[in-house]
Amino acid sequence: MGELPSVEDALARVLGRVAPLDSQHVQVAEASGRVVAEAARARTDLPPFPSSAMDGYAVRSADVPGTLPVAFEVAAGRASRDPLPPGAAAAIATGGAVPDGADAVVPIELVTSGDGTVEVPGAVGPGAHVRPRGGDVREGDVVVAPGVRLGPAQLGALAAAGIAEVVCARRPRVSVLATGSELRSPGETLGHGQIYESNRVMLAAVLAGAGAGVDQLPPVADDEQEHRDALARGLESDVLVTSGGVSVGPHDLVRGIEAELGVEEVFWGIAVKPGKPLAFGVRGSTLVFGLPGNPVSSLVGSLLFVAPAILALQGAADPGPLYQSATTASVLRRNERRDEYVRATRRLDTDGVVVEPIDGQDSHMIVRASAADALVRVPRGEGEIPVGAAVRYVALA
Ligand code: AMP
Ligand code: MG
Repeated sequence: MGELPSVEDALARVLGRVAPLDSQHVQVAEASGRVVAEAARARTDLPPFPSSAMDGYAVRSADVPGTLPVAFEVAAGRASRDPLPPGAAAAIATGGAVPDGADAVVPIELVTSGDGTVEVPGAVGPGAHVRPRGGDVREGDVVVAPGVRLGPAQLGALAAAGIAEVVCARRPRVSVLATGSELRSPGETLGHGQIYESNRVMLAAVLAGAGAGVDQLPPVADDEQEHRDALARGLESDVLVTSGGVSVGPHDLVRGIEAELGVEEVFWGIAVKPGKPLAFGVRGSTLVFGLPGNPVSSLVGSLLFVAPAILALQGAADPGPLYQSATTASVLRRNERRDEYVRATRRLDTDGVVVEPIDGQDSHMIVRASAADALVRVPRGEGEIPVGAAVRYVALA
């Protein structure tokens, strides 16, 4: 494998091969997790009219303190078009349209209501408890910019600004293929030397989480023809992700058969632990990831390289992975040649997040890894990282 690319170099080389997908109109109600391709602009000022922030009385601030006649009532959604007569108040509900002439709302808690009058004992400043028209956004201004992935707050913002439909990148179609003659499906009986196939469901979850539409292909044995048929099918997708069969053994068939099928290998091997023998290539616009079969290696590779590629295909401004800061509760021994991603649990201390590596760091130990919620990056080098030192991690949850 020679001098292996670092994690950063490998990711840059992957992202360098990404051509953003075309876009489509999506109903906002269906757009959770999608990446916006064209700026979504407000259809209205928001609020669309000056509105009351409180239940109370709309007044001219210059008229109070004092006792004022109540001219009329404004309920939410039932606005009066009447202006407020000078020297009068209007009863108003939260969200009600503040009548022309009024410039403040006095909360109901601060007044004494009489028979057709209201006594306001104190002064109020102009603008008090009035939400100005357009205070959140102006009609025509950008609500969500291109490259933003739609989460709950963005969906709410689009709806509030009157936007029913948004232009988003198409969802990447991703095929997932597990390889290995030893693999059996959960629920079947294991023969000697067989194990349960676990990568497909795990990878599908990572990829769907990044916005992909996932096609789970039936697993294949370490057989050339089975590989050829399944890989040819997977190469019809935007992204093909395989697990297993990319190491140096005689039964590792994936790279050779992909080459036969016209895949150009961009790199094979990354200076990372776990996940070193990861292969990446392209055929046309299809991205081709060969993840090593050990489940934790597959998981780490998918999070560090495949998920960012899927987000980049959708035009995400920041495809990640997102690194966060913590301190380590244990000494972390460094690997001389490879950046290591240590499975750890997080807890919140008075000074911030503290990470503690779990027991069982071997790359086949997916059950141990499932207790972790962080992948702590231990940069390659000499010696060790002491207790209390700053580290960076990628969240697993
Ligand atoms: P390979 O990368 O094919 O050499 O596989 C490395 C290790 O991962 C072997 O112990 C395989 O049995 C195991 N493995 C490969 N694929 C899977 C899978 N889909 N689910 C669980 N274990 C796997
Ligand atoms: Mg194998």
